[in-house]
Amino acid sequence: MTRRIFPDNDAWSSEASRASNEVTVAFADILAILEEDGPVDLKDFHYIISSAAGTFVSGLSISRRLGDPDTPPDPIIHAYPRLHTSTPANRWDCEDSPTGKCQYDDIEDPAWDNCIHCDWPYDRK
Ligand SMILES: [Zn+2]
Repeated sequence: MTRRIFPDNDAWSSEASRASNEVTVAFADILAILEEDGPVDLKDFHYIISSAAGTFVSGLSISRRLGDPDTPPDPIIHAYPRLHTSTPANRWDCEDSPTGKCQYDDIEDPAWDNCIHCDWPYDRK
């Protein structure tokens, strides 16, 4: 049984409003990164955020419907390439990784002791 964020049907609860604010701030942060080299076409930006929201929710809906209804989002999403390529996760070349760089699972391995593809640690002397 899932918990409703809108328990009174269409009425916005405080939790719903605050969650919406979180998403809005995330959009602003992403837009700021994209616009470091100048303004971007907002139709393109809208397409990105709409596509990402739809893909995320539909994928999780399928996982929960076919498996455990408490299934969290796949932790590998934390290892997907991000806008800033200078993040530490992109430091090491990795022949086993689909991105060509070592990736770490921030949830299961917060110390980055093992690349999820080759098992090498982030810290290499
Ligand atoms: Zn690796």
